[in-house]
Amino acid sequence: RVFRSGQFIMGPEVTQLESAIAELTATKHAIGVSSGTDAILLALMALGIGPGDEVLVPTFTFFATAGCVSRVGATPVFVDACPICFNLDVNDARLKVTSRTKAIIPVHLFGQSADMDAVMALAAEHGLHVIEDGAQSIGAAYKGRPCGSIGHFGTYSFFPSKNLGGFGDGGALVTQDDALADRARLLRTHASKRKYYHHFVGGNFRLDPLQAAMIAVKMPRYAAYTAARQANADYYLAELSQLPGVVQADPAHCKCAAAQNAALAAADARIVLPVAYPHNTHIWNQFTLRVLGTGQRDALRDHLNAAKIGCEIYYPVTMDQQKCFADTPASSRIGCEVAHQLAAEVISIPIYPELTADQKAEVVAALASFLA
Ligand SMILES: *Cc1c(COP(=O)(O)O)cnc(C)c1O
Repeated sequence: RVFRSGQFIMGPEVTQLESAIAELTATKHAIGVSSGTDAILLALMALGIGPGDEVLVPTFTFFATAGCVSRVGATPVFVDACPICFNLDVNDARLKVTSRTKAIIPVHLFGQSADMDAVMALAAEHGLHVIEDGAQSIGAAYKGRPCGSIGHFGTYSFFPSKNLGGFGDGGALVTQDDALADRARLLRTHASKRKYYHHFVGGNFRLDPLQAAMIAVKMPRYAAYTAARQANADYYLAELSQLPGVVQADPAHCKCAAAQNAALAAADARIVLPVAYPHNTHIWNQFTLRVLGTGQRDALRDHLNAAKIGCEIYYPVTMDQQKCFADTPASSRIGCEVAHQLAAEVISIPIYPELTADQKAEVVAALASFLA
């Protein structure tokens, strides 16, 4: 259809996908863009964030979130992680607000929402903009509200490993605010309302209509993909919790590493299972275990590799420890101890919708033999 139309830039395929994304995420405006990274960059540009500004970002996440803050000339300030839900610790974010702080970017990591009531309360108190990085959480919800629909902007990625994966790069930006949507749409195409006349500097952040058309084919099936991931997670939680040394993370310890460490020690825990909070709709982009004890995570990775079971470490190095941020002020890189611990303990096992019953049983058997 796209080839026959001859329209290879923007047009109805992009507009139709944008409508579908706006509906899925309960937002007024969805703007198709070139990647999840560019969605974050565009949001920061539309909010006018730049040199001299500080932006609070989780330290335990994918690089794009912090990278975009640096690209607009602002300073990323790294926030520690919650050991239970892996998302940013809003209590730590609060300690790191200064007179220069302009925005906060909660990431809804692994398919589960960050604590948005706390984020929005902190933002209201200090007049901060909120950009929700929903790259891993399109269709997830916080207290019934779609991830990405709560802050000033929400961003999504269609990178093939995301739940709504495309066939190449792509992304989307959403907002409820008409003026912000107008500005982001302008910036998406070099900020020219009238061709060849530029009132400010934008870029080329367009979503390819070929990608849009292919992602649109997946849209009607997206709920089924998500249900399959949720069923896989339920299976793992039921089966793995029966193995010796395996415990489920306790939501009561959210953002309280000390209480959780004490409980884990008392239980002689070796592996901690992830938990979906009752108020969240978790879409399980990743099923991430914590493997306790020095060297144990890497030993499990070797064990799974030997059994030819795919696994990945998201993320082995936190943002405050990246070489490229070494020249940010030292005060922006303090107090990230929980995140450092997570980076040494986490490993994600296969959770994709197409997993067969045999494959899931194989994963459980491999974990059982590791623990034996
Ligand atoms: C994947 C991802 C991005 C970037 O998305 P791309 O489409 O790959 O640019 C940003 N943030 C998070 C949390 C991600 O997982």
